[in-house]
Amino acid sequence: MLTNGQTVIGMMERLAPKHVAEEGDKIGLQLGSLQKDITGVLVTLDVNDEVAEEAIRLGANLIIAHHAVIFRPLQHLRTDNPMGRLYEKLIKHDIAVYISHTNLDIAEGGLNDWMAEALGIQNASVLKEVHTEDLFKLVVFVPIDHHQKVLDAILNAGAGSIGHYSHCSFSTEGSGTFLPKEGTKPFVGSIGKLTQVEEVRIETIIPQGIRSKVIQAMLKAHPYEEVAYDLYPLTLKGRIFGLGRVGYLQEPVSLAAFVETVKMGLKVDRVRVVGDLNRSIKKVAVLGGAGSKFLSSAIFVGADVFITGDIDFHTAQDALMAGITVIDPGHHAEKIMKDKVTQWIQERLTEKKLETKVYSSAVDTEPFSFV
Ligand SMILES: [Zn+2]
Repeated sequence: MLTNGQTVIGMMERLAPKHVAEEGDKIGLQLGSLQKDITGVLVTLDVNDEVAEEAIRLGANLIIAHHAVIFRPLQHLRTDNPMGRLYEKLIKHDIAVYISHTNLDIAEGGLNDWMAEALGIQNASVLKEVHTEDLFKLVVFVPIDHHQKVLDAILNAGAGSIGHYSHCSFSTEGSGTFLPKEGTKPFVGSIGKLTQVEEVRIETIIPQGIRSKVIQAMLKAHPYEEVAYDLYPLTLKGRIFGLGRVGYLQEPVSLAAFVETVKMGLKVDRVRVVGDLNRSIKKVAVLGGAGSKFLSSAIFVGADVFITGDIDFHTAQDALMAGITVIDPGHHAEKIMKDKVTQWIQERLTEKKLETKVYSSAVDTEPFSFV
């Protein structure tokens, strides 16, 4: 059986939730519709004409890309220019395009973690914090005989996670009152009569990202027609989300030796290097894409080397002056997302015995060549 677009995107957003993206980033469905059966998914770094042709050839009607296919506001949709023709081709072949950009960079277990892993960085943490997760306290009142059912529903939906502990909650017994009005169908008590019930007050903590999922699960498990619950915003903050990663190599190596690790790990033939090749490297910062403006973060955390794409002349000079080395594998090094995303979605489809196929694009979208 094939699956629909929403199911595939639901899987993608478990990997890279939209709410972790940088503000104003162009993410999500950019072209076409997800309200259809998905005949195939093509995962790519960029969408260009060759990638569109590849999707048509493979019979894939959904493209998942890292870089936006519409990145400037459209003033017109003319088919006498290359971009317009690309949009026309995609629409004519009913190919939807979904973008997962900074949310994929920032996500725990996303692109920056893949890059850190490929470079042998241990205990990687966030290089540049973008935001911390908002936390809420959920309090719900449940009749005693439904206590366990509601508690299980809330905790199994992911509530109650504190550091390395999960399923944290607190319950106290007490007595609740209510008066069902005309037109209600009360679970206990009767219309017009003040009713007193032995209830349990359950309290637990939930992060922003799963707030609606937990509340839905709670409402589904709760026997009352009108559920009494409170949601308090907390001043405590949850997990830190951000761009880039920093950590340590298992053993110090020379910059020259580490260059080879970068080439192999990110599957690139050539890199640009700033700094002394004999310099010893232990602490490593990495940021996928164009990271010139994050050089100061890498300096701030005391990294020996910063790996990022699109390093410009003056940033390279700043790095030399600050005594940090830089390896630029090119922006296109982000291509490692293709196989990772393909694998993530394919595994989840197979788990559910869905036959929709996922393909990692074979098109090389690197615009530069070395001559
Ligand atoms: Zn990028």
